[in-house]
Amino acid sequence: MEKYDLIPAQLIHDGTLTEDNFFHPEAITEEQILRTHDAEYWEKLKTGTLSRHEIRALGFPFHETLVKRGRHIANGSLECAKYALEHGVSLNVAGGTHHSFADRGEGFCMFNDFAIASNELLHEKIVDQIMIVDLDVHQGNGTAKIFENDPRVFTFSMHGQHNYPLKKEKSDYDLGVPDGIEDTDYLHQLYDTLPGLIEQVKPDLIFYLSGVDILKSDKLGRLGMTKDGCRKRDEFVFRTCYNKGIPVATSMGGGYSVKIADIIEAHANTFRVAKNIFF
Ligand SMILES: [Zn+2]
Repeated sequence: MEKYDLIPAQLIHDGTLTEDNFFHPEAITEEQILRTHDAEYWEKLKTGTLSRHEIRALGFPFHETLVKRGRHIANGSLECAKYALEHGVSLNVAGGTHHSFADRGEGFCMFNDFAIASNELLHEKIVDQIMIVDLDVHQGNGTAKIFENDPRVFTFSMHGQHNYPLKKEKSDYDLGVPDGIEDTDYLHQLYDTLPGLIEQVKPDLIFYLSGVDILKSDKLGRLGMTKDGCRKRDEFVFRTCYNKGIPVATSMGGGYSVKIADIIEAHANTFRVAKNIFF
């Protein structure tokens, strides 16, 4: 949780951003939540009546402040998308809660921010075709399931094939990589895949989940990526979007390295690379 304060502090400290570059989202409305999540699930969150089993799946003790926090983060991703449509790129210092399903949360994810933002943008007819590029080390199972039968949102997940979740859902395109994979192999697979998918989907907007749990230093990741490799991954995604003129809204996703400095540095790199390419 600490990282959500430390990322902006670091970016201001090192001069990547100024206070003026930040926006502060309000909570997403109930109506907007209900375009993605089931009424029954939302009711349980609102009234604090999740079962013990449902709380265990979520992975953290239930508290109403977490519901409130989740609503602000989800709106952060929606506003991010709108800023991206205006400026080419925008980033959420949190978000990327891709293990949240329409009817339940799991793996530290209560609301699915990209799904909520996508459904709202489609509802408002701001865009017609969205692509979700999920490069967090864990499969975007909730997102895949939510958009399983919705051709307006193309889901691409590149993840550790032996990592959580054990039971994978079916994204529109899944690319599972083996444990221990290093920079060169990982990046080649990404370079060989992403541009072709974008050509095929022709999205009006890309949501990018830039989880830094692909690092070798990550407690949950099981891959062998260096910080430089992680930065090159971000660079490739942003460069590709920039060259093709596709706006990109980014959420940070996971990062569980032993040293918090490694997590902050890798997330800060995502902002630095975006700034260098787009501004
Ligand atoms: Zn993750």
